[in-house]
Amino acid sequence: MSDPFMPLFSVRSGAGFKAADGVYGLTVQIANVYFIENPSAPREIILVDAGMPQSAEMITEEMKRRFKEGYQLKAVILTHGHFDHVGAIEELLEFWDVPVYIHEKELPYVTGKADYPPARPDAKKGLVAKLSPLFPRHTIRIPSVQALPSDGTVPFLEEWRWVHTPGHTPGHISLFRDKDRVLLAGDAVITVEQESLADVVIQKQELHGPPAYFTADTQTAAASVQKLAELEPEALLTGHGIPMTGKNYREDLLTLAEKLHSVL
Ligand SMILES: [Zn+2]
Repeated sequence: MSDPFMPLFSVRSGAGFKAADGVYGLTVQIANVYFIENPSAPREIILVDAGMPQSAEMITEEMKRRFKEGYQLKAVILTHGHFDHVGAIEELLEFWDVPVYIHEKELPYVTGKADYPPARPDAKKGLVAKLSPLFPRHTIRIPSVQALPSDGTVPFLEEWRWVHTPGHTPGHISLFRDKDRVLLAGDAVITVEQESLADVVIQKQELHGPPAYFTADTQTAAASVQKLAELEPEALLTGHGIPMTGKNYREDLLTLAEKLHSVL
């Protein structure tokens, strides 16, 4: 059974946007999902992450609006298994019988084998952080889930590769497209201070590390931010917050990694 609706809002909830060439985003309450068109078969859509609980209808409506008649959802790729990234997965799979891919180290959390560790409400100040012990962290069961190919390739998306960015969770991944340096970062880096309810509601744009209350290993997360800096991304499409585009983000990410490294 899926989790109940969580009463968390932002002003951009329900807003669809073009994020990059062939990549479209949708803000679901306080988390983003992305739709990527398969460049060799443009009617084929790959969904990255599956939003908040009870958001299947919102996601489906956006696909219909964006891609019109005749589109086909081919697969779902999950950056990680947190509740705000898998919320609609069960309902979506009832309608679309498609494979779901996740890093092999994340499999236990989506196959009924392991729960995520308890939230850390005191890891960083903020009302969302305070509320975090109420967020679901229990394991779910996705029947069609499988591990991503170990060679870094992404099914259906030959221009993309996945990069292991652990720390927030053990099997967190980001997706990178070399040709235009577009990074789909999940929660490895985000562009809003997710711990702060006020910032989340207005979606104040600012580069941050992963949500601290749900980040199990900050030092590993910092190393992952450093790894992303070396990719020299020119677009940051993140799991939370308004995407940042238009420059090389290497220096900003290195500064952020340093800041996270100094967190005890
Ligand atoms: Zn997360």
